[in-house]
Amino acid sequence: MSRYCTDFQEIEQIGNGNFSHVYKVLKRIDGCLYAVKRSTKQLCLDTERRKALMEVQALAALGFHENIVAYHTSWFENEQLYIQMELCDYSLSSYNTSCSLTEEEVLEVFLQIARALQYIHAGGIAHLDVKPENIYVKNGGYKLGDFGCATLLDNSLPIEEGDARYMPQEILNEKYDHLDKVDIFSLGVSIYELLRGSSLPDAVHQLLREGKLPLLPSNSLQLQNLIKLMVDPDPTRRPSARELVKNPIFTRIL
Ligand code: ATP
Ligand code: MG
Ligand code: MG
Repeated sequence: MSRYCTDFQEIEQIGNGNFSHVYKVLKRIDGCLYAVKRSTKQLCLDTERRKALMEVQALAALGFHENIVAYHTSWFENEQLYIQMELCDYSLSSYNTSCSLTEEEVLEVFLQIARALQYIHAGGIAHLDVKPENIYVKNGGYKLGDFGCATLLDNSLPIEEGDARYMPQEILNEKYDHLDKVDIFSLGVSIYELLRGSSLPDAVHQLLREGKLPLLPSNSLQLQNLIKLMVDPDPTRRPSARELVKNPIFTRIL
């Protein structure tokens, strides 16, 4: 008997990732809506299972934080991994087609995702796939989701980094030892993209990787200088998430 069919009524498919399909579901026993993510591939090999399990193990170990997409439970069925999580309204991948954000709204995203990173880094975990697509909106708040590339900060595991466009040079060179600063770089690129209001051409991604930030005329220099520091080619010069959340730039929205 399928646990998925017994426990949930599928409403509709809401997402199609590289590794999974995501469905909006109604949980029969509590009458609430959730998102269930199911791996597209059957995970037959031990190594495939272990890699997929990092996502749920990281989420479960971290516990609840208001700026992280909440995790409920997970199970294997027909060699596919199912993850039941909080249902969000949409992700920021759709911002450039449907809406653009004001500088104040971008600062909100920035602060809330920096708080999520502060929390996961303090818990010894790096996300490694921070990008607008993986930032979710729920009731006006922002949440970091898709922990499919998450790993331990101590470099004890081989990494499977996420979207190369948001990765710093040290990852592309496979010479890294500050995985928390990889997330800071990716957040810097994401915030720059949200300020610009459209996805970045490859040439701009390359410039950011070199620590060069094409000036955005309509946004504050203070904010752009902070982003410039976050994409510094030297990871040790990038601020930590703990430092970021204390930056006076956020007093404008507090
Ligand atoms: P990829 O690694 O290619 O980004 P993935 O297989 O890891 O994809 P996710 O990014 O987690 O899968 O999810 C795929 C899509 O499903 C998302 O882009 C989003 O549209 C939708 N989705 C995922 N989780 C949720 C959620 N909790 N609430 C609402 N929609 C979601
Ligand atoms: Mg994703
Ligand atoms: Mg993913």
